Amino acid sequence: MSSKTNYYPLVILALVAALVGVSWLYVFDKAAQYNGNGQQQQQQSTQQTYHWKLVTSWPKNFPGLGTAPETFAKLINRLSNGRLTVTVYGGGELVPPMGVFDAVSQGTAEIGHTAAYYWKGKIPAAPFFTSVPFGMNAQEMNGWLFYGGGMELWREVYAPFGVVPLAGGNTGVQMAGWFNKEINSVDDLKGLKMRIPGVGGEVFSRAGGTAVTLPGSELYTSLQSGVIDATEWVGPYNDMAIGLHEVARYYYYPGWHEPGPTLEVIVNQQALDSLPEDLKAMIEVAARYANQDMLDEYTARNNAALLELQNNHEIELRRLPDDVIKALRVASDAYIEEVIGSDPLAKKVYQSWKTFADGAKNYHHISEQAYINARDL
Ligand code: CA
Repeated sequence: MSSKTNYYPLVILALVAALVGVSWLYVFDKAAQYNGNGQQQQQQSTQQTYHWKLVTSWPKNFPGLGTAPETFAKLINRLSNGRLTVTVYGGGELVPPMGVFDAVSQGTAEIGHTAAYYWKGKIPAAPFFTSVPFGMNAQEMNGWLFYGGGMELWREVYAPFGVVPLAGGNTGVQMAGWFNKEINSVDDLKGLKMRIPGVGGEVFSRAGGTAVTLPGSELYTSLQSGVIDATEWVGPYNDMAIGLHEVARYYYYPGWHEPGPTLEVIVNQQALDSLPEDLKAMIEVAARYANQDMLDEYTARNNAALLELQNNHEIELRRLPDDVIKALRVASDAYIEEVIGSDPLAKKVYQSWKTFADGAKNYHHISEQAYINARDL
């Protein structure tokens, strides 16, 4: 009797089992790979990091104006957990202060922090999105932009340049400025050399003065040396920081020319389109935060700085006479008529802006204004 056992059928069975096993492993492996790819793609879009450059029209960390882009950038970095990092460049570091719009339009930088009224030369409608003389205050501007159709118009105006605007700060009502001569009547404006840029400057010149444009860094020496007789800058907080109270005596209010200027965050359209939806939303949220935060900071610091100026420095706080304000108002209305008469898009924006401004004025007569008057009784 053979002691040999016939293992042949068992070997065949084992081979078949192994083949089936390997096939299943293959199928499972493919299925796992397929699922893995899906997850991988999803992870890629949530883990891809973006590094953006933010150019500004202000010196790096300049009080108020320059802290807003820093606040904005830091918030984006935090909200995105580092997936979108934004590096802030002061005016002139990467592009000149007045080159911010072009840099963002051309994609040299993905994002910018500046003011729309600087672009009035190429976009006549632009000043309405910052501030025009005798226009809306900060509260009213925010109402128009976010609930009165203003943002939609702003996006329409910037679309041909591949730039998407967002509101990015507001200084509140500014001061009329620092003067080395008393202003008692419209005649006192004649020949007065004042640093006052933009639309306010155009209006000031039409009312008899001579408007000059100088960068903030030259205001102190220009006033001190008598190159100019007067200058506007922002308000007590910023003005005191550059020492204007040391070189001019009369501090006039109110800031008829900039009653509530909105600053802008501008984003390159293509760069924005390349972001996943959650990062786009973070940009919107951070801009909205910076927009309100700047107003809050100015409110707190202007109050404190005015008290310091009044209590500890030799200045005279004066209100511009009514006839001067009225003359400036007439000149302003005439100037705006000219602007909207020569540019259909400016006219379209103005019509929305004016309708909202009239409504806000009407309501504020019996709300903010009535309350402020009542508080003083
Ligand atoms: Ca100003």
